[in-house]
Formats: sequence, structure tokens, C-alpha cells
Amino acid sequence: MAVPKKKHSKARTARRRAAWKGAVPPYSECPRCHRPKLPHRVCGHCGTYAGRQAVEVE
Ligand SMILES: [Zn+2]
Repeated sequence: MAVPKKKHSKARTARRRAAWKGAVPPYSECPRCHRPKLPHRVCGHCGTYAGRQAVEVE
């Protein structure tokens, strides 16, 4: 198994963690109700996907 030769500096570790924390969760807008939803997922509010009713919402 490969073993790291040098210890990573605190700055390098902090830089990596800062980049990870800066990531914004992806979202897109529902074309029907204009609410934020996850991309490539059925809208949780109105139940539509790709312009058709995919899931019935009570
Ligand atoms: Zn919707």
C-alpha cells in the first residue's frame, strides 16, 4: 500500500476543507411552480418532471 512521504501542511489541509465547504448544493427551478428543486428529480411540490405529471401530489 502506498504511504505518503511527507506530512501535509496545515495550510494545505485548510485549503482543501475550505474548497469543500464552499460548494453550493445544486438546484434548478421547477418550470411549472418555479420553486427550487434538485436537478434530474421530480419536483417535490407539484410532482412534475419533463413537462408531464410524474407523481400525483395530494
Ligand atoms: Zn414544481
